[in-house]
Amino acid sequence: MSSHPSRRPDPLALDQPWARTAAGANTLDPASSLAAPRVVPTIYERTTAAAIAHGAINLGQGFPDTEGPDWLLELAARAITDPGSGPRNQYAPGMGLPELRAAVSSAQQRRQGVTLDPENQVMVTTGATEGISATILAFARPGSEVLTFEPHYDSYGACVALAGARMVGVPLRGPAFRPDVDALEAAITERTSMILVNTPHNPTGTVFSAEELRRIVELARKHDLRIMCDEVYERLVLSDAALPHRSILTVPGAQDVAVAVGSAGKSFSVTGWKVGWVTGSAELISQVRGVKQFLSFSSGPAFQWAVAQGLDDDRGFFAANTTELEVGRDLLSTGLTELGLAPNAAEAGYFVLGDVSGITSLSAVDFCAILAEEVGVAAIPVSALTIQHRAEPTDELQRLVRFAFCKDHATIAEGLRRMRERLPAALSGHPPSLEPSLAVGRP
Ligand code: PMP
Ligand code: GLN
Repeated sequence: MSSHPSRRPDPLALDQPWARTAAGANTLDPASSLAAPRVVPTIYERTTAAAIAHGAINLGQGFPDTEGPDWLLELAARAITDPGSGPRNQYAPGMGLPELRAAVSSAQQRRQGVTLDPENQVMVTTGATEGISATILAFARPGSEVLTFEPHYDSYGACVALAGARMVGVPLRGPAFRPDVDALEAAITERTSMILVNTPHNPTGTVFSAEELRRIVELARKHDLRIMCDEVYERLVLSDAALPHRSILTVPGAQDVAVAVGSAGKSFSVTGWKVGWVTGSAELISQVRGVKQFLSFSSGPAFQWAVAQGLDDDRGFFAANTTELEVGRDLLSTGLTELGLAPNAAEAGYFVLGDVSGITSLSAVDFCAILAEEVGVAAIPVSALTIQHRAEPTDELQRLVRFAFCKDHATIAEGLRRMRERLPAALSGHPPSLEPSLAVGRP
């Protein structure tokens, strides 16, 4: 079983930028020595590889197992092959196709009441990932501290470390996983440069409230910090969520300090297209562009053109998609409850969290290894999405497993069937690695 040590090297103690980056995202091979560190693929790729190797149902990496709406795929295909729609196979402008910038701006106006000049307040990126990287590299000063709620998306840690800054995590605690803004405030020091926010949140499914966002903006303004708000799941809020998605840019005064990041991949179930955008004041967007234009310069115009049409008229896709996701979430949550994994009440996004401490004293890392290898289901230990070198092995976040519900419902049902049939025997074959009294670790 490939167990990961709970303590990792401090990224900033490593002098090579690539090693710092890898350590920041928990992708230094724990089996390699610090003198000669080696890089492993991201937790998402490792999980998908494990699923393939073991013939497991992949409830790990967050991608739908459908292809996105046919009409959208046809629009992109036509943009490539039909010159009538304009040249779509040479470089797009660095800021993105004007059609897409206009569509993002109109959608923000319609949905959030936020006014953005498409000329200079919307910048198209190669996936949200590039928007996140460019923003962090633009504002995380070397030697500074960057605050985020954890668990957090893996690329944040990588980019913060590459920038030569230190990531400081403020845990989201179950069962509700609401952001503790007082704890965030307490973590601010004179070295803090940025706050990274993600709403709706991966992996907890928490939708931040207007008041939580208002307080975070207030802190950033008071301490002159920049905010990167990752809103890639903005279209994936389920119908029973207590709160609607609010963009950080709706908060009065946010535009002085914050940019918001979006993703067509998540919005339209075309994760391979890698079209995203960063929005905010002309001044901040120009600063982020300073970095972005030397990461990829620009990305595929045919995909951008199709996404622009989709944002202008989604032909009912967004509503149908969230209904599908909700059925998947309910199916998965009911099954996990029956298995004793006490899932959280995910309100948005692709994921639900199971807590292994009710059925085993194994860590989530060891649990996931057994799950893939012996049960035939791949899932992700949430500890991979934390600042692991700081985390205690008994911490609650070390006990959580992320399961994706953005999968075909028959696939989810088969994953649950395997768990019901095989999990008890698989777990009984592996003695707990910790005393039960240490296992839960809830405060
Ligand atoms: N942020 C979060 C929270 C994500 O889950 C993902 C994965 N879609 C991304 C960013 C990256 O988005 P993209 O695929 O558009 O680069
Ligand atoms: N966003 C996806 C997830 O959280 C994975 C993206 C990736 O593989 N980099 O599963």
